[in-house]
Amino acid sequence: MGFFDTLGKKASEAYGVTAKKTGELAKEAKLRMKINENKSNINELYLEIGKKVYEKHVKQENIDIKSELEEECSKIDILSSEIESCLSSILELKNKKQCPKCFTEIDADAAFCPKCGEKQEIVEAKEVEVLENEEDNTKTEQANSESSQIETNNAETMNSNNNQENNNN
Ligand SMILES: [Zn+2]
Repeated sequence: MGFFDTLGKKASEAYGVTAKKTGELAKEAKLRMKINENKSNINELYLEIGKKVYEKHVKQENIDIKSELEEECSKIDILSSEIESCLSSILELKNKKQCPKCFTEIDADAAFCPKCGEKQEIVEAKEVEVLENEEDNTKTEQANSESSQIETNNAETMNSNNNQENNNN
Protein backbone atom coordinates (compact mmCIF):
# COMPACT_ATOMS: atom_id res chain seq x y z
CA MET A 1 0.00 0.00 0.00
CA GLY A 2 1.52 3.29 -1.12
CA PHE A 3 1.81 6.49 0.84
CA PHE A 4 -1.18 8.13 -0.85
CA ASP A 5 -3.42 5.13 -0.24
CA THR A 6 -2.72 5.34 3.45
CA LEU A 7 -3.22 9.06 3.41
CA GLY A 8 -6.54 8.67 1.62
CA LYS A 9 -7.72 6.08 4.09
CA LYS A 10 -6.80 8.21 7.07
CA ALA A 11 -8.49 11.22 5.57
CA SER A 12 -11.71 9.34 4.93
CA GLU A 13 -11.68 7.92 8.44
CA ALA A 14 -11.37 11.41 9.85
CA TYR A 15 -14.00 12.59 7.41
CA GLY A 16 -16.40 9.90 8.56
CA VAL A 17 -16.25 11.22 12.10
CA THR A 18 -16.84 14.83 11.10
CA ALA A 19 -19.37 14.21 8.30
CA LYS A 20 -22.33 14.22 10.68
CA LYS A 21 -21.05 17.35 12.35
CA THR A 22 -20.53 19.05 8.97
CA GLY A 23 -24.08 18.19 7.93
CA GLU A 24 -25.42 19.67 11.16
CA LEU A 25 -23.40 22.84 10.73
CA ALA A 26 -24.75 23.29 7.20
CA LYS A 27 -28.31 22.83 8.44
CA GLU A 28 -27.70 25.26 11.28
CA ALA A 29 -26.27 27.84 8.85
CA LYS A 30 -29.41 27.54 6.70
CA LEU A 31 -31.67 27.98 9.70
CA ARG A 32 -29.70 31.03 10.86
CA MET A 33 -29.99 32.53 7.38
CA LYS A 34 -33.76 32.05 7.50
CA ILE A 35 -33.85 33.70 10.93
CA ASN A 36 -31.90 36.74 9.67
CA GLU A 37 -34.11 36.99 6.60
CA ASN A 38 -37.25 36.99 8.75
CA LYS A 39 -35.74 39.54 11.12
CA SER A 40 -35.06 41.97 8.30
CA ASN A 41 -38.58 41.39 6.91
CA ILE A 42 -39.96 42.16 10.35
CA ASN A 43 -37.94 45.39 10.45
CA GLU A 44 -39.41 46.42 7.08
CA LEU A 45 -42.90 45.78 8.44
CA TYR A 46 -42.07 47.89 11.50
CA LEU A 47 -41.12 50.72 9.13
CA GLU A 48 -44.41 50.38 7.25
CA ILE A 49 -46.34 50.44 10.51
CA GLY A 50 -44.39 53.50 11.67
CA LYS A 51 -45.03 55.29 8.41
CA LYS A 52 -48.78 54.61 8.58
CA VAL A 53 -48.90 55.83 12.16
CA TYR A 54 -46.95 58.98 11.31
CA GLU A 55 -49.22 59.79 8.34
CA LYS A 56 -52.19 59.57 10.68
CA HIS A 57 -50.41 61.90 13.10
CA VAL A 58 -49.84 64.45 10.31
CA LYS A 59 -53.52 64.32 9.40
CA GLN A 60 -54.32 64.50 13.11
CA GLU A 61 -56.27 61.29 12.89
CA ASN A 62 -56.31 58.24 15.13
CA ILE A 63 -55.19 54.90 13.79
CA ASP A 64 -57.24 51.77 14.32
CA ILE A 65 -54.76 48.92 14.77
CA LYS A 66 -57.35 46.21 14.17
CA SER A 67 -58.48 47.48 10.78
CA GLU A 68 -55.47 49.41 9.49
CA LEU A 69 -52.44 47.50 10.74
CA GLU A 70 -53.93 44.01 10.75
CA GLU A 71 -51.99 42.83 7.69
CA GLU A 72 -48.58 44.02 8.91
CA CYS A 73 -49.15 42.70 12.43
CA SER A 74 -50.21 39.23 11.32
CA LYS A 75 -47.25 39.05 8.93
CA ILE A 76 -44.96 39.84 11.87
CA ASP A 77 -46.70 37.14 13.94
CA ILE A 78 -46.00 34.55 11.23
CA LEU A 79 -42.37 35.64 10.76
CA SER A 80 -41.80 35.56 14.52
CA SER A 81 -43.19 32.07 14.94
CA GLU A 82 -41.00 30.90 12.04
CA ILE A 83 -38.00 32.33 13.88
CA GLU A 84 -39.08 30.45 17.01
CA SER A 85 -39.28 27.15 15.17
CA CYS A 86 -35.91 27.74 13.45
CA LEU A 87 -34.37 28.36 16.86
CA SER A 88 -35.81 25.17 18.30
CA SER A 89 -34.61 23.22 15.24
CA ILE A 90 -31.11 24.58 15.86
CA LEU A 91 -31.32 23.39 19.47
CA GLU A 92 -32.46 19.94 18.30
CA LEU A 93 -29.48 19.74 15.92
CA LYS A 94 -27.13 20.46 18.79
CA ASN A 95 -29.00 17.98 21.00
CA LYS A 96 -29.93 20.83 23.32
CA LYS A 97 -33.15 22.30 24.60
CA GLN A 98 -34.21 25.43 26.41
CA CYS A 99 -35.23 25.35 30.04
CA PRO A 100 -38.89 26.44 30.01
CA LYS A 101 -38.34 28.44 33.20
CA CYS A 102 -35.08 30.38 32.73
CA PHE A 103 -34.55 29.78 28.97
CA THR A 104 -30.98 28.59 29.47
CA GLU A 105 -29.67 26.26 26.76
CA ILE A 106 -29.25 22.84 28.38
CA ASP A 107 -28.60 19.24 27.27
CA ALA A 108 -31.67 17.63 25.69
CA ASP A 109 -31.51 14.71 28.13
CA ALA A 110 -30.96 16.79 31.28
CA ALA A 111 -33.38 15.83 34.06
CA PHE A 112 -32.93 19.16 35.85
CA CYS A 113 -31.85 22.60 34.68
CA PRO A 114 -28.25 23.14 35.90
CA LYS A 115 -28.93 26.85 36.28
CA CYS A 116 -32.33 27.18 37.99
CA GLY A 117 -32.91 23.56 39.03
CA GLU A 118 -36.25 23.27 37.22
CA LYS A 119 -37.29 19.64 36.67
CA GLN A 120 -37.26 18.90 32.94
CA GLU A 121 -39.71 16.91 30.90
CA ILE A 122 -37.73 14.24 29.10
CA VAL A 123 -38.82 14.45 25.49
CA GLU A 124 -36.22 13.57 22.92
CA ALA A 125 -36.45 15.60 19.76
CA LYS A 126 -36.66 12.61 17.44
CA GLU A 127 -39.54 11.10 19.37
CA VAL A 128 -41.78 14.11 19.07
CA GLU A 129 -43.14 12.78 15.78
CA VAL A 130 -43.87 9.41 17.37
CA LEU A 131 -45.55 11.02 20.37
CA GLU A 132 -47.90 12.98 18.13
CA ASN A 133 -49.87 9.79 17.65
CA GLU A 134 -50.48 9.75 21.41
CA GLU A 135 -49.06 6.28 21.80
CA ASP A 136 -48.80 4.84 25.30
CA ASN A 137 -45.55 4.64 27.26
CA THR A 138 -44.79 1.04 26.38
CA LYS A 139 -44.75 1.86 22.71
CA THR A 140 -42.62 4.95 23.34
CA GLU A 141 -40.03 2.80 25.07
CA GLN A 142 -39.88 0.57 22.03
CA ALA A 143 -39.44 3.65 19.88
CA ASN A 144 -36.53 4.63 22.10
CA SER A 145 -34.49 1.60 21.13
CA GLU A 146 -35.54 2.01 17.51
CA SER A 147 -34.57 5.65 17.32
CA SER A 148 -30.91 4.92 18.05
CA GLN A 149 -30.98 2.55 15.09
CA ILE A 150 -32.47 5.31 12.93
CA GLU A 151 -29.78 7.71 14.09
CA THR A 152 -27.07 5.32 12.95
CA ASN A 153 -28.76 4.98 9.57
CA ASN A 154 -29.00 8.75 9.21
CA ALA A 155 -25.31 9.12 9.93
CA GLU A 156 -24.51 6.55 7.29
CA THR A 157 -26.73 8.26 4.73
CA MET A 158 -25.07 11.55 5.48
CA ASN A 159 -21.65 9.98 5.05
CA SER A 160 -22.51 8.64 1.62
CA ASN A 161 -24.03 11.99 0.64
CA ASN A 162 -20.88 13.76 1.60
CA ASN A 163 -18.77 11.25 -0.25
CA GLN A 164 -20.79 11.91 -3.38
CA GLU A 165 -20.26 15.63 -3.01
CA ASN A 166 -16.59 14.93 -2.58
CA ASN A 167 -16.45 12.97 -5.82
CA ASN A 168 -18.18 15.74 -7.71
CA ASN A 169 -15.54 18.23 -6.69
ZN1 LIG B 1 -33.63 26.81 34.13
